[in-house]
Amino acid sequence: MSSEKNLHKGNFSRIYIEQDAFDYPDTQKLLKRFPKADHIPIDHYKQVLNRNNQNWRLQKANQALVLAVRRDNFLYEGSDIAPDFGHQAFYYNALVLNCLYDCSYCYLQGMYPSPHTVMFVNNEDFIRHTLERVRQGPIYLCISYDTDLLAFEHLIPYSNRWIETARNHPDLTIELRTKSANYRAIRLQQPVNNVILAWTLSPAKVAEKYETKTPGLHRRLEAMKQAIADGWKVRLCFDPLLHIPGWKQHYGELIRETFAEISPDQVEDISIGVFRMSRQYLRRIRKQRQDSDVLLYPYEIHDGVASYDDDVKREMTQFVAECIADYTPEEPVII
Ligand code: SF4
Repeated sequence: MSSEKNLHKGNFSRIYIEQDAFDYPDTQKLLKRFPKADHIPIDHYKQVLNRNNQNWRLQKANQALVLAVRRDNFLYEGSDIAPDFGHQAFYYNALVLNCLYDCSYCYLQGMYPSPHTVMFVNNEDFIRHTLERVRQGPIYLCISYDTDLLAFEHLIPYSNRWIETARNHPDLTIELRTKSANYRAIRLQQPVNNVILAWTLSPAKVAEKYETKTPGLHRRLEAMKQAIADGWKVRLCFDPLLHIPGWKQHYGELIRETFAEISPDQVEDISIGVFRMSRQYLRRIRKQRQDSDVLLYPYEIHDGVASYDDDVKREMTQFVAECIADYTPEEPVII
């Protein structure tokens, strides 16, 4: 467990900077913040991120920072295995690629050849393109997708900037999903009706064993409680459910501990989803690491997605939904 300000400790001794990114204020701020880092000019962030034959695990122990300018793909249409919570126009963006946390089950390990953190410094271009789309009709946008954005807020305050944007554009609903306890980083903002703060919650034992570097369950619950007390819309995500030994006991305790702290009437909605990952990513991850039972589980593949077989899926989602039903008549969203 670590405070967000220390999360990058041991990392960022190298900063790669696209030539085009140099003059952006966020670049200058970050270069001052890491004065001892080696500054290495590059033409394109993919030269670092997509370098092949890298040892992902070794690099994760010393992640580099890459400062880049996004030139296209400011908005992506939501994928089929991600929840849209009933919104017609579901998008996500990628302001940061990769994460400061190190969850064993994270698909990012199979998505990019390296774990280095790419931060796009032209946030205003993302906002401009998004608002062009919003002019055609309301959209639902996940801004913390291939990363955990709130954990980066002390480096570039993306979340604050997007909350401000949503405040001024009611047709833009944003979801900020996190495992971070860094709520104080956005606490000075007045709550906004079209912003949902979504916390992923896992049993304390799962967080400890499989969600390296994340704040534990109790710190996340404290952050959520404060956000609810301040008037934010908060979403609870019990996702991914992992079929580990003693899972019923762990997830039963998680639901009890959560609702001992948080009244279900005060949350916007609750979602549950079992572990799922693109088959291709899982194959790549297994080539690099054999140290996690979660990755070695004999998953079934359907339509290119690896997950538990239907019986296990049903048993897990039903069990967790029944535990939730002890506290609220509202049905959870099952993903
Ligand atoms: S917090 Fe999310 S994005 Fe970050 S390592 Fe964990 S699963 Fe991956």
